[in-house]
Amino acid sequence: MPVERIIDTVAHEDDRDEQAVEISLRPTSFAEYIGQERLKTNLKLAIDAAKKRGEAMDHVLLYGPPGLGKTTMAGIIAHEMGANLRITSGPAIEKAGDLASILTNLADGDVLFIDEIHRLRRAVEEILYSAMEDYKLDIVIGKGPAARSVRLDLPKFTIIGATTRTGSLAAPLRDRFGHQYRLEYYQGSEIQQIIERAARILDSKITPEASELLSARSRLTPRIANRLLKRVRDYADVNGDGIIDQPTTSRALELLDIDELGLDPADRNMLQLMIENYDDRPVGLTTIAALTGDEASTIEDFYEPYLMQLGLIERTPRGRRATMKAREHIRKQKD
Ligand code: ADP
Repeated sequence: MPVERIIDTVAHEDDRDEQAVEISLRPTSFAEYIGQERLKTNLKLAIDAAKKRGEAMDHVLLYGPPGLGKTTMAGIIAHEMGANLRITSGPAIEKAGDLASILTNLADGDVLFIDEIHRLRRAVEEILYSAMEDYKLDIVIGKGPAARSVRLDLPKFTIIGATTRTGSLAAPLRDRFGHQYRLEYYQGSEIQQIIERAARILDSKITPEASELLSARSRLTPRIANRLLKRVRDYADVNGDGIIDQPTTSRALELLDIDELGLDPADRNMLQLMIENYDDRPVGLTTIAALTGDEASTIEDFYEPYLMQLGLIERTPRGRRATMKAREHIRKQKD
């Protein structure tokens, strides 16, 4: 990613610096996890059933744009199951042996969270099939003619996979998840509640007008809502009495150059380039990436889902198209 953007949905360096805060903002129970009601109802039922039977819960696949609470939910599931949580990611598991050592070190009932599961290497993914289905690990010991294959028993664990794209998950892997849920963008009122909860934890005073304004700019995404809140809180501490009210929030957002739809200069630049070069005609993702200098996958995973949710971009069989709403928004910003 060429520039780090405030509305970025991936975790930033400064999010990590404030890791202690980030951890404390992360809900640890269903009661604290705001929104996603359908997901919560289904998962609570699945957890209760597994607990009643004294079994590990069936594997869970969570998909949807980044920053909506997939990792957080994995933590809650582990907590509710009274299980240990191990966190890893698709790209972090380089070899089949790495996965074998993670799996053999799990205990019965443990939860293994695999973020970006669509980026698992093929050889690793294939080991996962029998591990998920039969709790067996097939490994080859030795090389050449002396090589032999052994089958090891694994503990009864639960895998929670997270992905931004279900489409890029191979069908045999996808089918091994008994539960598959899509995380939806949050309602504005839910984001407002998330902001008010985070402000309470951070011991900051925020007025309802300010939390409403902030929620409208947070791309319906909790991670961005928390990040914006922290930046506005800095501004209020330095330039005022620390109380986050509407005028302070408005000035801080102006300084961050985030407009009333939550778009930053890079979003607006992308829309403008699409409109200038293609007007309302469809344009391919790689062409957009070449125009903006971003990776195609960055646009597809991080920026485009929200622009589509707002109806600023449409997907057509021949590429992406800036809508009338996008043209009006860009025109308005220039006036
Ligand atoms: P993902 O794994 O989907 O990228 P995370 O679970 O890391 O997203 O969530 C990002 C941050 O947003 C978390 O640190 C947490 O503080 C906050 N968050 C996510 N979902 C919720 C929620 N439903 N209620 C309150 N805060 C949330």
